[in-house]
Amino acid sequence: MDDPVIPAWASLIRDVADFPSPGIMFKDIAPLLADADGLAAMLSALAAPWRDAGIEAVAGTESRGFILGAALACQLGAGFVPLRKPGKLPGLLLDEAYALEYGSDRLQMQADALPAGTRVLLVDDVLATGGTLAAAARLLQRQGARVAGAAVLIELVELRGRQRWECAAPLQSLLRL
Ligand code: AMP
Repeated sequence: MDDPVIPAWASLIRDVADFPSPGIMFKDIAPLLADADGLAAMLSALAAPWRDAGIEAVAGTESRGFILGAALACQLGAGFVPLRKPGKLPGLLLDEAYALEYGSDRLQMQADALPAGTRVLLVDDVLATGGTLAAAARLLQRQGARVAGAAVLIELVELRGRQRWECAAPLQSLLRL
């Protein structure tokens, strides 16, 4: 198979060793977000597979999923819904726990965030072990939304997070590293 073509903007993603804890190679997208041409090219590539997919809302996970998700929603003519860490959202909430490498975490969304049956695209910056994205999909399904798929900027292939994606809907990643 041919090597995939690496887009020019990918060089704006910085590897930071041992952040936020020892042994983690953090993918820092801040330099990419700060570059006008790189940001525009990356967003257009992230949106491309979904332009004719009838996406009505984009849901992003806290916190870099908010940055990518809101921008992507504008590209797709869709609304945006934040999936947040506990204690941030008011009103009646749905809550989903998920396992981390050490311990667990939770995501919440507002129960009335979307009309039932809304076609939603999930977005995050990095797919690592896959727990966050899988929990986000479960949360949306419990809320009554239809998960149309997931778009991530970077898939860390060795961590095999894709195996935890239980939806029939496609999971698209732009960079497989
Ligand atoms: P996971 O649930 O293990 O797939 O982790 C995905 C979430 O953690 C995403 O919201 C990412 O922003 C963050 N994350 C995990 N690993 C990294 C990494 N190496 N660099 C940057 N962000 C990461």
